[in-house]
Amino acid sequence: MIKETIAKLEKGEISARELVSGYLDTIKKKDPSLNAYREVFDDAMEEAEKIDLKIKHGDTPRPLEGIPFAIKDNILIKGKMAGAASKILEGYTASYDAACIKKLREAGAIFLGRTNMDEFAMGSSTENSAYGATKNPHDESRVPGGSSGGSAVAVAADMAMAALGSDTGGSIRQPAAFCGVVGLKPTYGAVSRSGLIAMASSLDQIGPIAKTVADAEVVFEAIKGSDLRDATSVQNPKSKSQVPKVIGIPKEYFLKEGMDAEVLKKVEEAIEFLKEKGFEIKEVSLPYTQYALAAYYIVMPAEVSANLARFDGMRYGPRAEEKNLFGVYAKTREKGFGPEVRRRIVLGTYVLSAGYYDAYYGRAQKVRYLIRKDFENEFKNVDVILTPTAPTLPFKIGEKTKDPLSMYLEDIFTVPANLAGVPAMSVPFGEARGLPVGIQLIAPWFEERRLFEVGKVLENVL
Ligand code: GLN
Repeated sequence: MIKETIAKLEKGEISARELVSGYLDTIKKKDPSLNAYREVFDDAMEEAEKIDLKIKHGDTPRPLEGIPFAIKDNILIKGKMAGAASKILEGYTASYDAACIKKLREAGAIFLGRTNMDEFAMGSSTENSAYGATKNPHDESRVPGGSSGGSAVAVAADMAMAALGSDTGGSIRQPAAFCGVVGLKPTYGAVSRSGLIAMASSLDQIGPIAKTVADAEVVFEAIKGSDLRDATSVQNPKSKSQVPKVIGIPKEYFLKEGMDAEVLKKVEEAIEFLKEKGFEIKEVSLPYTQYALAAYYIVMPAEVSANLARFDGMRYGPRAEEKNLFGVYAKTREKGFGPEVRRRIVLGTYVLSAGYYDAYYGRAQKVRYLIRKDFENEFKNVDVILTPTAPTLPFKIGEKTKDPLSMYLEDIFTVPANLAGVPAMSVPFGEARGLPVGIQLIAPWFEERRLFEVGKVLENVL
């Protein structure tokens, strides 16, 4: 879609103005009930006009010339508000562009608005937003997944051509799966995190949500690369590998327990389909996967508790009135953070406390190493690993809010990639009971190219 659209812009078959106004009309029509956007920017048309002028001048279009984007509310755009869907950041305006925003701008992208999400990216349904839940466009009584639910819905419902999300334990891939679009979590370090409101810094990555694998690829190419403001970002090494041929199926990801039988059936169909297309299918084993969720729910809250300590009413957002300084901190945080964020801060503070550090945090880090080793071992035997993206279909709004553990189980197939740092992508593969199903592809570090190659085969099933 992106490449074709730019070709049309270049030939003058469509203008950037027409493109943007088309999306703005759709937003006006659909967003009052879907609630994907927290804010629609008022300068998108102006940006489109500038681009039309450039094209009239005969400038060669850049890789994302005139492409309208939706941006998750935890990625900073200079001069725009950014709130991570939290009350504690109400009224906060970003003073600089995130590295990926700067790159998108340089590539010619237009920003339509910022999208709803679970508060500070904590959740799997976008119900944890302080500004109301986002709905799934395939069935409005259901969740769109999370935490990048707004971005996934914006793309799925044609309210943006592409979007950015962030993924700490599945927040790009799971909503992409629930909404029937493509979502990529790049290799840790492939994309700069500068300007991303941090959740858990050793797990967070920014990535694209798009309609097609080719679109996700163009966006990834535009945003990747090293950046001085994020010491963990690197210049992406060139992929040296051959065309992927062997696909690994980890037996640990196919436990029937807790898994929707219809989703399982679709995943088996996807495996069959790839076999017919000439791929070799091999069973693999990632034995430490069974501990991934437990390790994630220790490492992640530990980092959350540290990262969110900065929100105390002094630097950003509203400040509560109290008698003394400690009171101001406590009141501001009590009022500003929602229940899920507070739960994780408490949990994280606990696992990092002196008496428990070794028993919890230290051990979780050891497990994390073993999970990484699991991938390292199996990537000697296979090129790509295939799994379900999520164990269930999009569930009903309110169905899991009272039971955080069942919500956490949504992440069972996505967190290992974050713990290991490997790239993973969700590709839509038809429907079950009228709802989209996503297939997850996982590749070795910096081998996103393999995901695109297999993903392009998989998405052409229909
Ligand atoms: N759903 C997961 C969680 O609640 C993942 C969040 C994310 O990737 N940001 O932690």
